[in-house]
Amino acid sequence: MHSRGRPTQAGDATGIERETFTSNRALQMEEALLFEIGRTETSGVDLDDVPDVAARLGGLERVEPIGLPGLSEPETLRHYVRLSQKNYAIDSGLYPLGSCTMKHNPRLNEAMARLPGFSDVHPLQPASTVQGALELIDTLADWLMELTGTAAVAMSPKAGAHGEMCGMMAIRAAIEARGEGATRTVVLVPDSAHGTNPATAALIGFSVRAVPARADGTVSAQAVRDALGPDVAAIMLTNPNTCGLFEPEVVEIAAAVHEAGAFFYCDGANFNAIVGKVRPGDLGIDAMHINLHKTFSTPHGGGGPGAGPVVLSERLSPFAPVPFIRKDGGHFSLVEDREGSQSLGRMCAFHGQMGMFVRALSYMLSHGSDGMRQASEDAVLNANYVRACLSDVMSQPFGNKPCMHEALFDDAWLKGTGITTLDFAKAMIDEGYHPMTIYFPLVVTGAMLIEPTESESRASLDLFIATLRDLAISVRAGDVARFTGAPHLAPRRRLDETRAARQPILRWVPPQPLPVPVAQAAE
Ligand SMILES: *Cc1c(COP(=O)(O)O)cnc(C)c1O
Repeated sequence: MHSRGRPTQAGDATGIERETFTSNRALQMEEALLFEIGRTETSGVDLDDVPDVAARLGGLERVEPIGLPGLSEPETLRHYVRLSQKNYAIDSGLYPLGSCTMKHNPRLNEAMARLPGFSDVHPLQPASTVQGALELIDTLADWLMELTGTAAVAMSPKAGAHGEMCGMMAIRAAIEARGEGATRTVVLVPDSAHGTNPATAALIGFSVRAVPARADGTVSAQAVRDALGPDVAAIMLTNPNTCGLFEPEVVEIAAAVHEAGAFFYCDGANFNAIVGKVRPGDLGIDAMHINLHKTFSTPHGGGGPGAGPVVLSERLSPFAPVPFIRKDGGHFSLVEDREGSQSLGRMCAFHGQMGMFVRALSYMLSHGSDGMRQASEDAVLNANYVRACLSDVMSQPFGNKPCMHEALFDDAWLKGTGITTLDFAKAMIDEGYHPMTIYFPLVVTGAMLIEPTESESRASLDLFIATLRDLAISVRAGDVARFTGAPHLAPRRRLDETRAARQPILRWVPPQPLPVPVAQAAE
């Protein structure tokens, strides 16, 4: 009953594994590197020979050919199209990666980002010629402050982790301005945090003190109070947290942190669960990054760069980085100079990711405030639907309780089966699904974190759930081979990840030329 006609191994209709002459498998092409396909002595374009000119590089001229592969236009095109077809993308199917909010990127956003007034402008153009672009950044900034209930926003950080760094640098600047730079050197980070949080704190010179999570996956105000002291600069807390739970004591935690003279950095990567429902500023945060590429549908992963604006509380706003936009009557200008201010400086060369700003604002304006709230509600509903429909076959670390935007399972239900979380995830690939996030958060053993987002229809969720239930039934039936050998049907099977990490091959060496075919050699 539960079988969907799954073959037990890769192979033809007879079930026999068969090699092909080309190594391609039906329409799955074996793709060589560009350098292996192209020949250095040919070129896809017809250029005149370079005229003899006297070198003016003072002896730094290249003495050997650069070795670029030559390919014609169709050869180049096919190479890249075939590579692109190897990508799993949100445009090809449900992408359940937890904590990543892989939601649909509306095509309207793409059309807006391609308007010449946005796509063809240059960051060094005089401000008078890019008033519309500056107004767009300013409007987006207003929305971000509105949705978070905060006083300021730094638009320039280019990713969530970059935003963390910006927010923590603002906190450091505020602490130094108080003359406490030498004493407040510790940042509190809960065990369940994303790895970027402790990395950010350490990168800018803080030391990290871990705050243990409670048995229910949340952080208690008492544990934070116990860890606070005159040496603490800030706490970095994710809300909703990486276990998919809203921190119930977040207001109390904020109060305790402030009372101890420290700041509250909130990791806002999971904002998609609460947009239009809760304003983090009302909870007492001092700084929070917003991953536009998660919450506001700008492409990410292989699909595009991110953007991580940071909202700041009144207390931190004087320390915001340059440049920022100043609106004077109807005129917009960029304040580039930090002279005479307390600004922390500059996070990057220009104002940030213009293309992402256009897409995010397009998403906001097309949804409106009611639509954004609806998206959050649907994201939470979808996650709980997945969670509830799998709760009888998979185990949940914190009991059968509602979650926010992502459903978390552990590997207790796999104990004694000979199948691990990794095996289960690999078997999902054979079924055409990108695996969920696994082994994160670290506080849960064998974690499987599923974030379906609001993009999925009921039918899409039902097929996903049915697939995971079918896999779970195989686990119970002891069909170990379905898992430990998986993926059976992908172009690459199980990779030696340990060896790849320990002995990475970082240098490409040109392959030996192919042997001349025998018939031709005989001529
Ligand atoms: C994605 C994520 C980050 C980092 O954001 P990037 O844009 O990938 O740099 C930080 N914290 C959490 C909880 C995340 O999910």
